[in-house]
Amino acid sequence: MKQTVAPGRVKEVTSVSNPIVKDIRALALKKTREETGLFLAEGLKLVIDALDAGWKIETLVASRQKLDGELLQKTAARTVANGADLVEASEKVLAAIARRDNPQSAIGVFRQKTVPLEKLEPGREGAIVVLDRVRDPGNLGTILRTCDAAGIKGLVLVGDCVDPFSLEAVRATMGSIFAVPLARAGEEAFLSWRKGFSGLVVGTHMKGEADYRAPSYARGPVAIVMGNEQAGLSDALAGACDALVRIPQVGRADSLNLAVATGLMIFEARRHALKLGAGS
Ligand code: SAM
Repeated sequence: MKQTVAPGRVKEVTSVSNPIVKDIRALALKKTREETGLFLAEGLKLVIDALDAGWKIETLVASRQKLDGELLQKTAARTVANGADLVEASEKVLAAIARRDNPQSAIGVFRQKTVPLEKLEPGREGAIVVLDRVRDPGNLGTILRTCDAAGIKGLVLVGDCVDPFSLEAVRATMGSIFAVPLARAGEEAFLSWRKGFSGLVVGTHMKGEADYRAPSYARGPVAIVMGNEQAGLSDALAGACDALVRIPQVGRADSLNLAVATGLMIFEARRHALKLGAGS
């Protein structure tokens, strides 16, 4: 039976000192995001992506000036019908929440969503990506976007990682945060999950002996394990991999940027599955 949801409230806010604005602005802080379980997604496209993917919206802050736009109007109506609040805001309020000039016409406050590690399903021949203590929000966002583009079945954040729900990380995902299942695990928990994973676990390491193109990625499920930006892969994680691979380099750079290295790994591991014309 279809449940009926009470429609959300519509409020008009023009002052940046309004308590609603203060509460939403506080979501820039990791502590507030952790306490509330909420986060911000900026821009109408991201808000629509999130709604389409079934993420729960709590509040939509929409530009009062641009509410005559058809798409924004429809999204506002959809938000209220979902039982969430609509804040019709001045440009000043939107800029204060986004913390930048020329803000987007919409900012959504969404409930965070992660999945338990054991619920990640690489499938019979799919791949997941594992990040060891990733620190940079831009790297994490870029990696999520790349995972989405290559059909990666899930991303695991191991240890003390940057918050995937920070404004910077969400911005860098360009909406892919809503498409790729995300799991978080301590190193111990990951290592115990790994014992039960029957697929191929390929770690990347600056001392890896094998070329990254050598493993047989098409034979079954694969986990690609990437190291921290400064310290690389921990010894414990490196020791849990079936193979440690390296991307050959020439030139002066000691290593590649983490997001670039992850992109190369992902597209190599999924090469057999990705064909022009098969996607959109
Ligand atoms: N100083 C670190 C080290 O020596 O391990 C370098 C870290 S690198 C910036 C961050 C991560 O990107 C590495 O742990 C690895 O996962 C990946 N990476 C970067 N360049 C790579 C390469 N040429 N081959 C394999 N992995 C690479």
